[in-house]
Amino acid sequence: MATVVVKNADWGVVWENAAPESGPNLYGGRHAFLKDCDLAFEGDTLAFVGKDYKGAADTVIDGRGKMLLPGFVNIHSHPNSEPLLKGLSEERKSRQLNMSSLYEYIFLLGRPAHDLSADPDTAAFGTADFPAYGAACQVAISEMLRSGTTCFVDYSATRPNWLDEVARTGIRTVVAPSFRSGEWYTPNGHEILYRWNEKRGRDGLDTAAAQIMRAQKHPSGLLSGMMAPAQVDTCTADLMRDASALARDLGVPCQTHAAQSVVEMREMFRRHGKTSIGWLHELGVLGPHFIIGHAMFLDHHSWIRGPDPRDLDVIADTGTSVAHCPNQFARGGMVLEHFGKYVKRGVNMGLGTDTFPHNIIDEMRWAIVVAKIASADIGSTSLAEVFTAATVGGAKALGRSDIGRLAAGCKADFSLVDLAHPSMQPARDPLKSLVFSALERPITDVYVAGKPVVRDGKVLTIDLQAQLAELTAGQARNMRGIPERDWAKRSPEEAFPMSLGWAGSNR
Ligand SMILES: [Zn+2]
Repeated sequence: MATVVVKNADWGVVWENAAPESGPNLYGGRHAFLKDCDLAFEGDTLAFVGKDYKGAADTVIDGRGKMLLPGFVNIHSHPNSEPLLKGLSEERKSRQLNMSSLYEYIFLLGRPAHDLSADPDTAAFGTADFPAYGAACQVAISEMLRSGTTCFVDYSATRPNWLDEVARTGIRTVVAPSFRSGEWYTPNGHEILYRWNEKRGRDGLDTAAAQIMRAQKHPSGLLSGMMAPAQVDTCTADLMRDASALARDLGVPCQTHAAQSVVEMREMFRRHGKTSIGWLHELGVLGPHFIIGHAMFLDHHSWIRGPDPRDLDVIADTGTSVAHCPNQFARGGMVLEHFGKYVKRGVNMGLGTDTFPHNIIDEMRWAIVVAKIASADIGSTSLAEVFTAATVGGAKALGRSDIGRLAAGCKADFSLVDLAHPSMQPARDPLKSLVFSALERPITDVYVAGKPVVRDGKVLTIDLQAQLAELTAGQARNMRGIPERDWAKRSPEEAFPMSLGWAGSNR
């Protein structure tokens, strides 16, 4: 098999296994800087990471002036629906629903990701617009690859050609077909009600299981699966229990949205006299295979103020992971309280991009800044902790120790960062430059499974202009249906006001 070598990279972020005497460590080691780093791979696997590679080399890539970075792992995103809301939802949060945009605005562009299995006759949801969803997904993956993400969780409803479309981009995808037996709606903008249809949930579970097995056998070798019961408040106890049990049987992770809004927490208290996390724990579904999407409004949160907070302990003690997506919540004035507290309690944290942009470096920046503001303590959360979440934390949540790190035997998923890019200079600490100043701009090359997917800053596997045109047309098409889907029958301009008023000659 041909050996490709990246020679003489100025910097490498390499994985070091922990010495046994260093005490407990969730990941068995840590990322560290290595100057003058070589990296060699054969096929999809790293053969060498370190100094002075002396083995065979069929192809040599000059690493001078570059930093080698492990591929990022994004464990929570909805690429097939959320990019359609760009330019609309950013400043639209429902004050009457405790700031959440979920219940009032998220479905105004047609059925949300979780509801493609919904009853097609339900008036609140339009017809599935698969061309728009497909384009949204390609645009989102382009953003991910461009910013060094090499593996992501696609938490979406099943759609035709889904597996082939994501596999063609060359990214590693964890297909997470979502399903639920309840769907929320508001008749008036202040009350949330649920329509239940357990058969739909069961059918969704069966479809998801079949899709996961197809993903595992996909010829690309890049796909795997995850069970994804959509939200804690939209799945019955039986459905949630069976989804988690089936995930364990299939040996795949299971993720649901929980503690993502005050509305949800109140609803769970009303139904069960328990928090969302308390209810999941009572069902026995939590564990190392389980990921909580968001886990933000736990009972210690200042907007919840539970009488005897134990949600965080439950998450930590069961070995459950958290998918933290700070950007889109921070846009809505909501923060997790706080990242460093979760880490210090021993929770495995991963990062996700959720809505848009799908730029995990941006998400890392938000995670750090928001945590420091929420804790009022600059020492509460470090770049190292957040970088760990964006790499091995996400990998651990997916049950993998062969991605998110640069070490021999791991997958050849990595990026090259141009240290000479003005945004990186001075590159005294290139990780600080990348996260606090440069974001994706200096990333020149990205490899997944040893194959180049980004070169000279261009994504090689996606016709981005064509996909952007399709996405833009799809957004315009879907916006026309807003008045009929909105409880107040508002026009798009009323539901989603522009950021500035129109100039006189344009009114
Ligand atoms: Zn989500």
